[in-house]
Amino acid sequence: MAARWLSALFITVCVTSILQAQNTYWQQFVHYDMDVTLIPLEHALAGEETIWYKNNSPDTLTQFYLHLYPNAYRNSKTVRAREAKRFHRKLLAKAQDAGFIDIESFKIISSDEAGGVRSVSAFKVDDTILEAELPRPLPPGDSLRIELSFYLKVRKFAGRAGYRGNQYDFAQWYPKVCVYDETGWNAEPFHFNGEFYGEFGTFDVTIHLPPTYIVAATGTVVSGDPGWDTVHVDTALSDAQWQQAWEDMTDRRRKQAADGQMRSVTFHAENVHDFAWSTCPDFLYERGEWDGIPIHVLYRSRVKKQWSKVVVRRGARALAWLSGKFGRYPYPQLTIVHGLLGGGMEYPMLVMNSSQREGLILHEVGHIYFYGILGNNEWKEAWLDEGFTTFQTRWYMESRYGRWGFDRKSWLRRATWLQRHRPGNTSREANRNMALSYILSGYDEPISKPAYSYNEPFGYSMNAYTKGAFFYDMLRYVVGEKTFEKICREYFDRWKFKHVNEARFKQVCETVSGMDLDWFFDEWLHKTVKIDYALGEVKKINKDSLWLTEVQVLRKEKGKMPVEVQLVTEAGDTVTQRWPGLANEGRLTFETRSKPTRVMLDPEDKVLDVRRFNNGPPRVEVLFDYPNLSYSPRQTYLVTWRPSGWFNDV
Ligand SMILES: [Zn+2]
Repeated sequence: MAARWLSALFITVCVTSILQAQNTYWQQFVHYDMDVTLIPLEHALAGEETIWYKNNSPDTLTQFYLHLYPNAYRNSKTVRAREAKRFHRKLLAKAQDAGFIDIESFKIISSDEAGGVRSVSAFKVDDTILEAELPRPLPPGDSLRIELSFYLKVRKFAGRAGYRGNQYDFAQWYPKVCVYDETGWNAEPFHFNGEFYGEFGTFDVTIHLPPTYIVAATGTVVSGDPGWDTVHVDTALSDAQWQQAWEDMTDRRRKQAADGQMRSVTFHAENVHDFAWSTCPDFLYERGEWDGIPIHVLYRSRVKKQWSKVVVRRGARALAWLSGKFGRYPYPQLTIVHGLLGGGMEYPMLVMNSSQREGLILHEVGHIYFYGILGNNEWKEAWLDEGFTTFQTRWYMESRYGRWGFDRKSWLRRATWLQRHRPGNTSREANRNMALSYILSGYDEPISKPAYSYNEPFGYSMNAYTKGAFFYDMLRYVVGEKTFEKICREYFDRWKFKHVNEARFKQVCETVSGMDLDWFFDEWLHKTVKIDYALGEVKKINKDSLWLTEVQVLRKEKGKMPVEVQLVTEAGDTVTQRWPGLANEGRLTFETRSKPTRVMLDPEDKVLDVRRFNNGPPRVEVLFDYPNLSYSPRQTYLVTWRPSGWFNDV
């Protein structure tokens, strides 16, 4: 009763503090109006940009900051290039591949109390940040306007954007407002590790292109023709029919090119904090739909065999899954583009992917939720975007393909004899091994750290992705499956189109679960503690046809997690109890009718326990020593054998 009263009090405290947090929450508003022209002969883009900015903060602003991300690739002296060098990486293959953005005209305009207009044109650029003093301090509730023009020299593809052949991927390409939040201005230069953070708002972008260029972008087309109809793939056609259709298409487009009329398309997007686009004369287009939401897929003709039909289908499944687990996809379209990069990259409503892989589509489309809709500061708390989407991808793959976590049936069809016969790890096991070897490597760093501050080159990816994803596995384990699903929906509902951070996510977790999760967030995000529980003494007493088994559990490391203790009886029954795991030692009693035969800790391998051999009696498995064997069943000694032949000439 007392416990119930306490938890009721705790929930009340949480609800009150959430209401307070929501009442005091604010975010700035920004509206971009851009008019840009692609000049392929110069590999350049000329742009005009107007930014309307409303100060919704309680502070009076005196300065203003814009990101000029393309300048990170201007030369080898930029912050990003220097940090890359520290990790023995090079941003640009050759100096002539460089790109940059020059601000050709600039004006900040704001009206004063008397209704007069004041403006300034002075600004300074340091690396990838433009700083300007406002013509007058901007009090809470007031707005200003910035008018500028820029010349973007597009770099040869590097990082996430650039050109290769006749394709242009435009990402982080325009002067972009730095976020002003409760921590002040987030005017961070573009680091080697770490991604982005943007103000939510509206984009109206008009793009002028040579007529043969097909274009895809964040937002919906409100005027002009992006060219999709001219390259629309009719998926019902046979190969021969398609060949004919392709020739007709090419013919039509040759005529279009001869006409010489520029293509002009305007895209409009709301509730987004970035705008990306991609264009190429060689794109083919396919259209799909999920629950009334159009799915646009654009890919280069050489991958038609791999991309056709499959990507549209996978995109629809991703939307169905994400909408079901978190909340309905709130944007009017989804675009999946065959990007120039290896891997994939996410932008609001649009992802650039290097392949048709299902896991990649789930990861990047998932980012439209975790980064896009729930907009965290990516360089500061990458676990909120990379960790969450890596976790949800594995969750999707396991719910679709079972414990293997990948489409093993299709894989087996393509596998060699050796691959088919050699035992292997599930996707979760492979990732768990990776996380555990990092945790035990001596180089472990906390999950929540600014992306650029990791000491080792692999620190960022291990923490943002691998350990970051396990954070959500552990959270689900601590609060329980049903509560976790409620947390996912509540988090989306409460924070969509807003900036999220650890405190905001934690508040949702605590309100929904009714649990105090300080210890959990602190341990998993800010420390590098190891978790190791061991099975201690097991005492069995047989009394009046009942078996009483007393099990001792020991905590061997500083890390704390609830631990499941499972007892198996001669009759084959299993009984599981959960021990809170906070003390150094605990005892649990099991009462069974049948004789206990085996006791094991964490039977389903849910906790990232660093030493699994002390979780119960280990098993021994004997198997052939296959080449490149990557197999690690839990609590098992593997004995491998292989024949060997030799001779001597004596
Ligand atoms: Zn990602």
